[in-house]
Amino acid sequence: MSEQGIGTKCVQAGYTPGNGEPRQIPIIQSTTFKYSTSEQMGRLFDLEESGYFYTRLQNPTNDAVAAKIAALEGGTAAMLTSSGQAANFYAVFNIASCGDHVVASSTIYGGTYNLFHVTMRKMGVDFTFVSPNCTPEELDAAFRPNTKAVFGETIANPALTVLDIEKFANAAHAHGVPLIVDNTFATPVNCRPFEWGADIVTHSTTKYMDGHGAGVGGAIVDSGRFDWFAHADKFPGLTTPDDSYHGVTYAEKFGLGGAFITKCTAQLMRDFGSIQSPQNAFILNLGLESLHVRMPRHCENALAVAKFLKTNPYVSFVTYPGLEGDEYYETAKKYMPNGTCGVVSFGVKGGRKAAEEFMKHLKLAAIETHVADARTCCLHPASATHRQMNDEELVAAGITSDLVRLSCGLEDAADLIADISQALEHSQKL
Ligand SMILES: *Cc1c(COP(=O)(O)O)cnc(C)c1O
Repeated sequence: MSEQGIGTKCVQAGYTPGNGEPRQIPIIQSTTFKYSTSEQMGRLFDLEESGYFYTRLQNPTNDAVAAKIAALEGGTAAMLTSSGQAANFYAVFNIASCGDHVVASSTIYGGTYNLFHVTMRKMGVDFTFVSPNCTPEELDAAFRPNTKAVFGETIANPALTVLDIEKFANAAHAHGVPLIVDNTFATPVNCRPFEWGADIVTHSTTKYMDGHGAGVGGAIVDSGRFDWFAHADKFPGLTTPDDSYHGVTYAEKFGLGGAFITKCTAQLMRDFGSIQSPQNAFILNLGLESLHVRMPRHCENALAVAKFLKTNPYVSFVTYPGLEGDEYYETAKKYMPNGTCGVVSFGVKGGRKAAEEFMKHLKLAAIETHVADARTCCLHPASATHRQMNDEELVAAGITSDLVRLSCGLEDAADLIADISQALEHSQKL
């Protein structure tokens, strides 16, 4: 059979029931699995046989949903994590540990920036942040002999910059390291980073993949294409025996397609335990079943809202990579021709006070620390996530005091525009 379309994969990939078996993925609500001999369990512990023994390591519900996400991204293997934070931490820490260095785009999600810049630095991993707009020469100059990976976001949250995936992949590969891309905002419906040279993809499934604000989760997907043996000296964790797993050499035993995810499960999930619950994996799968139907609507609504804002006299600027004239419009056209995401950011004329007044008068859009939900939501970073910063510090962080981040949901665009329009009128009555 020829390669299935993305919609068919959203609905059916990862789980094919046998005769008389449940049509929907069963929730295997069990911490553990029963065996008749200790010898067999021993073989599972040695990774000699595949099978389930404890849900912290693997669970059939989670595996089915991970297999669907692997199919959507065009990868060879995937795993679920308890959150997007855990996914990004594991993806990087699986190949970069104490004494190593990573090159990352500077416009990444605040939580990821903090994880890298503060917490992973405490663990001895160093990071160099580069502008997503850097020249190939500037990017090249960020590498060191101990660099182990490059990291960026397809569409950055909340900066809405679009990553030139080929530029970052070429630089990573020239230095013998993989490119890790957080594809949360674009989703595989709009962009598949592996097709442009990325090697590992991560997700906060909490966002569009779940899409209903129902479950926090994450995922890591391997393209299976990065040749760990070609750079064996950089990646001893994959190319030399693991004493904590009876001498298994991951890249040898599980091949290029399975090594990264097997090592990540066997070592990091075993030791840190950020497992997604099978209940949440089931909820995530319900979201995935309609991802290809929802994403175009999120994008359609966001574009309509962005176009409206662009012509509104009370708006100081609009940032939306799907809007013609946006700084990242051309890059977005190349990597995600069918749409970008549902998040738009813009400024309300009159600064901080006007932005707060605008938010107060919204009726449909709710004030939330969230994005990518079926329900439209918005956030004023200057009074929420970035409230410790003064106006000058905000500008340095690429955020102005009048900036509103609006995540367009699945409602009717006309209703969203009417709501925004009346709230903008109120914002100017101060
Ligand atoms: C939300 C988000 C994360 C963190 O995910 P959680 O599921 O909240 O832990 C990571 N990356 C991006 C791009 C995000 O939007």
